[in-house]
Amino acid sequence: MFKKILITNRGDVALRVLRACKELDIPSVVVHSTADADSMPVRLADESVCIGPPSSADSYLNIPAILSAVAITGADAVHPGVGFLSENANFAEIVAAHGLTFIGPEPLHIRAMGDKVEAKITAADAGLPLVPGSPGAVYNTAEAHCVGAEVGYPLLVKAASGGGGRGMKVAETADDLNDAFAAARAEAKAAFGDDTVYLERYLGQPRHIEVQVIADRHGNVVHLGERECSVQRRHQKLFEEAPSPALSAEQRARIGDIAAEATRKMGYLGVGTMEFLYEDDQFFFIEMNTRLQVEHPITEEITGVDLVREQIRIAAGLPLSFTQEDVTFTGHAIECRINAEHPETFFPTPGKVTAFHAAGGPGVRVESCLYSGYSVPPYYDSLIAKLIIHGDDRAHCLARLRRALEEFIVEPIPTTLTLHKRLVDASAIKDGSYDIRWLEEVFLNDQ
Ligand code: ADP
Repeated sequence: MFKKILITNRGDVALRVLRACKELDIPSVVVHSTADADSMPVRLADESVCIGPPSSADSYLNIPAILSAVAITGADAVHPGVGFLSENANFAEIVAAHGLTFIGPEPLHIRAMGDKVEAKITAADAGLPLVPGSPGAVYNTAEAHCVGAEVGYPLLVKAASGGGGRGMKVAETADDLNDAFAAARAEAKAAFGDDTVYLERYLGQPRHIEVQVIADRHGNVVHLGERECSVQRRHQKLFEEAPSPALSAEQRARIGDIAAEATRKMGYLGVGTMEFLYEDDQFFFIEMNTRLQVEHPITEEITGVDLVREQIRIAAGLPLSFTQEDVTFTGHAIECRINAEHPETFFPTPGKVTAFHAAGGPGVRVESCLYSGYSVPPYYDSLIAKLIIHGDDRAHCLARLRRALEEFIVEPIPTTLTLHKRLVDASAIKDGSYDIRWLEEVFLNDQ
């Protein structure tokens, strides 16, 4: 096992990894920016090293500063958490070149999945069903029209380097295609410095369903069921649940087996998530995230598996501590993302939290770095707390969630807590009938 793990992240993610380190009895180091000097991970880690000023480029993405922190503290493994350097194949390679262990997949898989065109080719080779579209990148409008004629409209132009829903434009008909193509390329160039795009049929009312997979160095590959993440605004997830209210046990087993088999064919290592769109009883692979997901706790709640603990054990060369047959799904879990954002305009609302009270009681888990007196910095992601609920079944889970939301206090900054309190009583949430368009086109539109 590792002598010391250095965590290159902040907020609730750093805390989540820190908790796993403590339970494994591994000393931990947290690196932080000057803006996070008073944060909970810094207080709770065995050691902390300041690696730069607030801007992420100068701190959490500053590889030389992170390597210096490793050298100073003598850590032998690096956990990248979620976001920041977690899907940076160069960083994973640099870490390995320094004789350290990167707690994550192999650089080749991070790289293959980081480019969406290559990811689709890799996924097709591994037997995953794809959204009908261009077989690879599309470089001009003549080629795009050929794909459109074959696949049909509406058509979605997507950036190969895309992320966070940027660089995506819909062409409703062939007449819109030239404009959508140019707009997606321009947005992709501005956001990612790469204007490579590809085309996919634009699905009308799909659900976003993702499968958690995990693989060790000993040939063991297991899937841990699915997460339903269709409640999205601007392609950002806000509310996730497991299992999906849309799937039967047979459909769950089918997509789980397909994802696990693809993981095995790829020779993938560690934890990963295969994201699918689901429509008319068909699954279509859209991307694979080669890291822990923000919403991983709902899988942990229904399976009893500690994903971060397993991730660390796998990186240390140990075999998975369970088999596919050992995995059972118990009850229902929901995660609400509580963001420092105005619940109607979604503008960030950083600032000082003078009163904080986390919900508690049976079936309630809170992943957060907040404390009374903490100032939410304006420099980073607006996620400030995750409220995770486990119940005997979906109705029980929703009842618990409603109760927990009433208990939860974050004052005075506006947060998405207010939104979740309304969301929990929406009929499409109660009956589980929502799709990826529902939040924006129905729920937020009706306000
Ligand atoms: P990103 O990496 O930018 O998040 P994804 O490919 O994961 O991009 O897609 C993000 C979201 O965009 C999906 O969850 C879904 O809501 C929507 N989306 C992506 N592809 C399609 C498609 N072919 N048809 C309809 N919606 C799509």
